[in-house]
Amino acid sequence: MSTATEQRTFDSLNPVTGAVVGTHPVHDAAAVRAAVAAAGPAAEWWAGLGWDERRRRLLDYKAVITRDIARIVTMIHEETGKPKADATLEVILTITHLDWAARNARKVLGPRRVSPGMVGLNIAATLEYLPLGVVGVIGPWNYPMFTPMGSIAYALAAGNAVVFKPSELTPGVGALLAELFAESVPEHPVFRTVTGLGETGAALAADPGVKKIAFTGSTATAKRVMAACAENLTPMVAECGGKDALIVDVDADLPAAADAALWGAMSNAGQTCVGVERVYVVDAVYDDFMRELTGRAEKVRAGEDYGPITMPQQIDVIRRHIDAAVANGKAVLGGPESVRPPYVDPVIVEDVPEDSPAIREETFGPTVTVKRVADAEEALERANASAYGLAGTVFSGDRRRAMDLARRMRTGMTAINSVISFASIPALPFGGLGDSGFGRIHGADGLREFARPKGVSRQR
Ligand code: NAP
Repeated sequence: MSTATEQRTFDSLNPVTGAVVGTHPVHDAAAVRAAVAAAGPAAEWWAGLGWDERRRRLLDYKAVITRDIARIVTMIHEETGKPKADATLEVILTITHLDWAARNARKVLGPRRVSPGMVGLNIAATLEYLPLGVVGVIGPWNYPMFTPMGSIAYALAAGNAVVFKPSELTPGVGALLAELFAESVPEHPVFRTVTGLGETGAALAADPGVKKIAFTGSTATAKRVMAACAENLTPMVAECGGKDALIVDVDADLPAAADAALWGAMSNAGQTCVGVERVYVVDAVYDDFMRELTGRAEKVRAGEDYGPITMPQQIDVIRRHIDAAVANGKAVLGGPESVRPPYVDPVIVEDVPEDSPAIREETFGPTVTVKRVADAEEALERANASAYGLAGTVFSGDRRRAMDLARRMRTGMTAINSVISFASIPALPFGGLGDSGFGRIHGADGLREFARPKGVSRQR
C-alpha cells in the first residue's frame, strides 16, 4: 500500500506476473459513511421509479455489460489470473441472474391480495415486499463478478441502493461493475463501490445507514461482520465456505461422475465455495471410478486448464492440507511437489483420516480426497459429518434413491448427476447451513432477502 498526499491508495496485482493492474483509493470509515449517506436519497429515488422503469434500467445495464464483456473479462483475468474462458463464463452466468432478477422482481415482490383467513370478517388484505433502503455488499475475490452480483442484482431489482465493498484483491472488477451501472442509471449513486482492505468492509458493516449486509467470504470473517452488524441490529446474509461432498453410488454413471468430480474439484483451481473437496465411493465401483478419475486428472495441468491460486496466503493452507493428507493417507496423484506457486497441480489423495484438515477444513485448492465406503448410507453419513453444509452431489442411476439421499444431505443445495447446476439456475435459492452461513441469495428467496414484507388490512 502507498500513501499519496491526500488519499491513501492500494494496488491490485496480477497474481501470476505481480504487475500492478490498478490503483484504488482506501475508503476509510468517513468515506464509507459519506457513500452510505449519499446512497440513502438514491435508494428513495430508485424505489420511487416503479417496477417497469427499474426493470428497464436493469435490462439496459445487462446490455451495457454485454457490450463491454471483453473489458470485464480482461479485468477478471488480470486480477484473479483465471483463464479468459472461465472469466467469460462468469460474466455470462451473471447476466443470466441479472436478467432473471429484473424480470421477476415485480411478480415475487409486488402487491397482491391475500385471503385474510378469518371467517366472518369483512376485511381486504394486501401483501407486498418493500425495499430496505441501502444494502451493503461485501464480496470475495474468487468469482469477483458473479458472486457479489448474486446479491447486488437482486438487491437492486428489489428497489434498494447498494454500496459494494469488493475484495482487496479484485477492486478493479468491483469498480468497473459500478461504473457500467452508472451508464444505465446516471441520475443518482444507486450502486457505488467503496474500496480498501478489511477496515473498509468493517466500516460498511457498522454503518447504521446500512439496512442489510450481504456478505460472501470466509466463515471467520463472517463472524466478525456479524459482530459489527450486531451494534445496529443490522440483518445479514452470510454466504461462507464449504467442504462439499460428492457421493458415487453403486449404479452411478462412472465416467460422468469422474468428469463431475474432476471439474468440481479443479475448476477455478478449486477456489470455489461449492467446489468438490470430498468424494465417497461405494466399494463395488471404487476401483473402476478411481481408474476413470485418475485417467482424466493426469491430463490436467495448472496454468493450462485452470489458473493460479489468486490469494498468495492460500498457498500455505493448501500446502498444509496436502502435507497432512499425504502423511496419513495415500497419494494417488500429485502431492507436496504439486505446489509450485502461484500454481498447484491436481492432487488426489485416498484414505485420508476423517480428522485431517483436508477433510475438516475448506482447502480452496485443486485437491480432492476420495474414500471407499460400504454403501450409500455410509457415504451420506460421512458427507453429513461436516461443520459446513453448503452443497453436495449425488451420482446414482436410481432416481428415487438419489432423491432420498439428496433430501437427507445436510446442505443448502444438492445436485443429482451433475455439479454445475447450483449457481447457474437463477430460480433456485443459493446458500448453506452451519459454518457455510445463513440466508439465501438468487431466486425468489434471494429477492425477498432484500425486502421487507408489509401487510395492510382494510375494513370494508
Ligand atoms: P474473506 O477473507 O472472508 O473476505 C471477504 C470479504 O470480507 C472481503 O471483501 C474482505 O475484504 C472483507 N473483510 C475482511 N475483513 C472484514 C471485516 N472485519 N469486516 C468486514 N469485511 C471484512 O474471504 P475471501 O478470501 O475474499 O473469499 C474466499 C472465501 O469466500 C472462501 O471461504 C469461499 O468459500 C467463500 N465464498 C463463498 C461463497 C458462497 O456463496 N457461499 C461464494 C464465493 C466464495 P479484504 O479483501 O479487504 O480483506
